[in-house]
Amino acid sequence: MSDSDKNFENLCETVLKTVNDGNLPHGTLFECEDEALSLNLARLIANALVCSGESKPCGVCSACRKASANNHPDIIETDGKAKKSDAFTVDSVREIRSNAFIAPNEADVKVYILKNGQNMNEQAQNAILKILEEPPSYVYFIILTTQKSKTLETVLSRVSVYSLAVSNQTVTDEERKCVKELVEAVLNPNELKLMEHTSKYIKNNRLAGRVLEIMSAVCRDALARKSGFSGDFDFPDEVLALCGSLTAKSLMNLANVCGELCKSVKRNINNNLLTVRMCYELKRAIGR
Ligand SMILES: [Zn+2]
Repeated sequence: MSDSDKNFENLCETVLKTVNDGNLPHGTLFECEDEALSLNLARLIANALVCSGESKPCGVCSACRKASANNHPDIIETDGKAKKSDAFTVDSVREIRSNAFIAPNEADVKVYILKNGQNMNEQAQNAILKILEEPPSYVYFIILTTQKSKTLETVLSRVSVYSLAVSNQTVTDEERKCVKELVEAVLNPNELKLMEHTSKYIKNNRLAGRVLEIMSAVCRDALARKSGFSGDFDFPDEVLALCGSLTAKSLMNLANVCGELCKSVKRNINNNLLTVRMCYELKRAIGR
């Protein structure tokens, strides 16, 4: 499994745990070359922050529904490009600052997702720094950047910083076919289908590992699609199928379980046991 996948799953888990414990700091910065991936993560965190359920994000409360439709009034996304320039201007940050002092509309918190942090000039960063130093108690900033090195040290010292790597391994025809079949088998209510499918290639550790790794990425794409991201996906039909059949929480579980199973495959655990475990865990992940 590539570092990026480990990172994404670990990051989701780590940051969501921090949110659920009520310990997320007011500023978080994600560094990632893949802007869709970091935006996906930021939206998930924002969703968890506004959620009124027990285990956040619960996926069913009204806040979660609005957040996943990208329509929650207390989640504000901006890339600071209001004035047709590449820079994240000081004016746009000042606007954010004055807006931040207005209490939330519906949730207990207000979350700002600042995209393209690499375009934030020094002046704008200094303006953001002021509010990071003394933020209203209900305000959270999630800064996304492709290059952390463009962020001032003073800003970095005020936020939790996470770096997310990107994998660029290409998908072979065989892997593509297996992933397509796996999606069908997972969504098929007949459990034997999944057993039949996994037993086909479970003895080929390399292939099984790759299929699970790609499946995990496809689930994350489906999660991104669910939260309103409409870019190009590697497996568009499968993304739509997963997105239409599963809740955000199930998708996240499934992505995590695929990641965990991928590690077990690579550790050469007994194949028959692994087939059974895989079928059980995959179904459990989606609550079936
Ligand atoms: Zn919720």
